[in-house]
Amino acid sequence: MPYTLASQVNRLSGQHIELCYHCHKCTAGCPVVGAMEYGPDQLLRLAALDQRDLLLRSRDIWLCAGCYTCAARCPNDIDIVAVMDALRQTALAESYRAGERDALLFHRLFLGVVQRLGRSHEAAMLGLFKIFSRVPLLNDLGAGAGLFLRGRVPLLPHYSAPAARGVQRLFQRRD
Ligand code: SF4
Ligand code: SF4
Repeated sequence: MPYTLASQVNRLSGQHIELCYHCHKCTAGCPVVGAMEYGPDQLLRLAALDQRDLLLRSRDIWLCAGCYTCAARCPNDIDIVAVMDALRQTALAESYRAGERDALLFHRLFLGVVQRLGRSHEAAMLGLFKIFSRVPLLNDLGAGAGLFLRGRVPLLPHYSAPAARGVQRLFQRRD
């Protein structure tokens, strides 16, 4: 018998999404719920109802910022970030297109930068994203310059060889 989406997500994420009793606390605290179609607790409901197509096509799984607000608020200790990761993995494994334009490109570039540097680096991410997504290079120059002047986007990464090696070992385990 094929796996249900809920059992697949539980296995990949190490969570028990059936514990959710839809108190809505996660969704009430989510900073990007305004841009989502469903929000985190409805995503869990869709998984429990085995709405595979609806869920794996949803842009919500790609919009999640991984901020952990939902996990911190959940009275049942459900790690929704791990659930979102499992949903993205499943969507990719089953050849679904990311429901948000350029989300998959961003995801891959981010992981590529982290794999090479051992940490994220916003300036590198921004440059690579602009090149590969073909977004005009200068369309948000003002915002970028403001962040740079406030020291929020350093031009050079803080590289640490031991940290980079540690992260690369994690990627090797994943492969
Ligand atoms: S906070 Fe936890 S129990 Fe409440 S709806 Fe969200 S996942 Fe379900
Ligand atoms: S981790 Fe994702 S789903 Fe949870 S609160 Fe943050 S953005 Fe929302």
